[in-house]
Amino acid sequence: MYFVANWKMFGNLKSINTLDKVVKFSKSKEIKKGRLIYCPPYTLITSFFKKFQNCLIDIGAQNCHESDDYGSQTGFINSKMLKSIGANYVILGHSENRKKGETDKLINLKIKSAIKAKLKVIFCIGETLSEKKRGKTRSILSKQIKLGLNKIKKKSNLFIAYEPVWSIGTGKIPKSKDLEQTVEFIKKNFKGKLPKILYGGSVNPKNINDLKKINNLDGFLIGGASQNPKKFIDIVKKTFN
Ligand code: PEP
Repeated sequence: MYFVANWKMFGNLKSINTLDKVVKFSKSKEIKKGRLIYCPPYTLITSFFKKFQNCLIDIGAQNCHESDDYGSQTGFINSKMLKSIGANYVILGHSENRKKGETDKLINLKIKSAIKAKLKVIFCIGETLSEKKRGKTRSILSKQIKLGLNKIKKKSNLFIAYEPVWSIGTGKIPKSKDLEQTVEFIKKNFKGKLPKILYGGSVNPKNINDLKKINNLDGFLIGGASQNPKKFIDIVKKTFN
């Protein structure tokens, strides 16, 4: 099971000290089959990478530019640059970036460049509350998958993170039955090798007891709760207990 920590735009050099507990936990037997991946802001990737050097916690970024090459793109970072500083994962298509104007087409280009740079891609999809209310969840997810993965054959390094937009940071999670059916539906969009499927949206140490029962999930993408090492560790422990 994968547990991806999305730190969003939080953290400074002092935050590194909060990771001691997680490093210790990652070396203990209690981690069982949990695989931890931290996606801090760009500014902390190198420090986190160093912190995790003697343990199995992996590192990712929260976005990247779509270009494969260096270029005159003020303020941006591409997948090759991320790979060169130790990142192995990148979160793409997050709803907070879609909201800012990232289109399916742009996300598709980013995914292609990330795969080329040998990053594993955590591709976020999800419907808004109004889309859900209008019964559009399935058509939105299909469209995001179709356009986001257009002309991408290699699915082995791909994770789909189903993150209902209305669930992110709100404390609300989908009903178990709905979530199970949506995961099943997402799988049906793929032929042959299936990507791994994660759920994201307000995962916390309380609701993990329900979420862990959902069939066919390969893990969780965790925002707010992942910045608190105790909560993050609790989520992992409870998943296996
Ligand atoms: C996220 O932003 O990817 C996320 C899942 O956030 P939260 O856990 O805070 O809802």
